[in-house]
Amino acid sequence: MKDFLDLEQETWELYDEAKNALAPIFSKVDETVEYNTAKVMHAFWKNHVSESCFSSTTGYGYNDLGRDVIERVYASVFKTEDALVRSQFISGSHALAKTLFGILRPGDLLLSISGTPYDTLHEVIGIVDNPSSLKSFGVLYNEISLKDNDFDYEAIETYLKENSVKLIEIQRSRGYSLRETINLEKCKKVIDLIKKVSPSTIVMIDNCYCELVSTHEPSEVGADIVVGSLIKNLGGGLAPNGGYVVGKSEYIRLVSEALNLPGEGKDVGPTLGMNKAILQGLYFAPSVVGSALKTSILASFLLQKLGYTVNPLPDEERSDIVETITFHNANDLCSYCEGIQSGSPVDSFVTPVPVDMPGYQDQVIMAAGAFTQGSSIEISCDGPIREPYVAYQQGGLTYDSGKLAVLKAVNEIIKKRKEVV
Ligand SMILES: *Cc1c(COP(=O)(O)O)cnc(C)c1O
Repeated sequence: MKDFLDLEQETWELYDEAKNALAPIFSKVDETVEYNTAKVMHAFWKNHVSESCFSSTTGYGYNDLGRDVIERVYASVFKTEDALVRSQFISGSHALAKTLFGILRPGDLLLSISGTPYDTLHEVIGIVDNPSSLKSFGVLYNEISLKDNDFDYEAIETYLKENSVKLIEIQRSRGYSLRETINLEKCKKVIDLIKKVSPSTIVMIDNCYCELVSTHEPSEVGADIVVGSLIKNLGGGLAPNGGYVVGKSEYIRLVSEALNLPGEGKDVGPTLGMNKAILQGLYFAPSVVGSALKTSILASFLLQKLGYTVNPLPDEERSDIVETITFHNANDLCSYCEGIQSGSPVDSFVTPVPVDMPGYQDQVIMAAGAFTQGSSIEISCDGPIREPYVAYQQGGLTYDSGKLAVLKAVNEIIKKRKEVV
């Protein structure tokens, strides 16, 4: 690598240390990749993925064989009755919004039990005013915060006994906060409680960044509906856009009618040449998620060595691909993002700067040298410009390329320190 990378001696030494320390942790990642690859391949075999699935439809998109097979494959992977996997979903946020609009009716109560949801949902729900929000249609909203990085089981039980809740949202990944990701054990425990106290309440999971990180998915522990993005884990870096919703048939039908139109639902939606990328992306996804995990683990190790607070720690259990690094000042956050950008495959020569982003309340800096705009299964690093100046790093389509970006970013920090001295 020294032929191509000009790094400080200290950076190389830290990397050598990392290589030895991380080998046993990486081998655990490999076991998960092995399991999930078999799971995805089994879904391909069972649902007869064939070359004819790669052809596509235009216009209304009636009788799209590939689209139907893709949705059966997703339903097999998640062990659900049905699935909706569409490029008509712009991204995960859009899939989440359509799911909520599809299922909720005026007067219904939506409850988040993992605190305030992801930034892009604030205007969807009406936490931030918007004339097109769920609130503007008369959908009520409330939230219960997490307690010590776990659900507040008592508060949830009491609330469910006193209110008729139509839908509970659980966001597993942390979004732009510092809490821990919610693992499947906790999901199971809280879903068991919800189903005991209020069996008719629908449980919806925002599964963004968590897919294929563990060997099981939330639909296997009782979630009624699970939602995510194709420009994250399951797209494997190849899906050019899109989102997925998997779960019980009655809810998938409602969501498809909200996305498309009542009466036509799942039967329409041209695939415009994307079926192959979506299938091949899923085929790569277990291995890509493994690479993203290793890239995050490397960052965790190196930045912890440099004295920063990182989460998760290198050897901690992971439930998503995100690593947070708390820098405590805007300069270091920006330097780190600059380093990541400079080691990215696309736009490596560009310097990222903080800007206003639609759907976000603070300025955000984003290192995003990706093949697909906004794709964060590709090596990327971003953070809102607010205390305590946290970088959210995720992705890496291959570990060997993600590693280069991390080494260059760490090197930026080491160089800055020397200048100060
Ligand atoms: C990224 C993310 C989303 C939104 O997904 P996009 O594809 O970027 O729209 C929603 N929820 C969480 C927790 C996320 O991390």
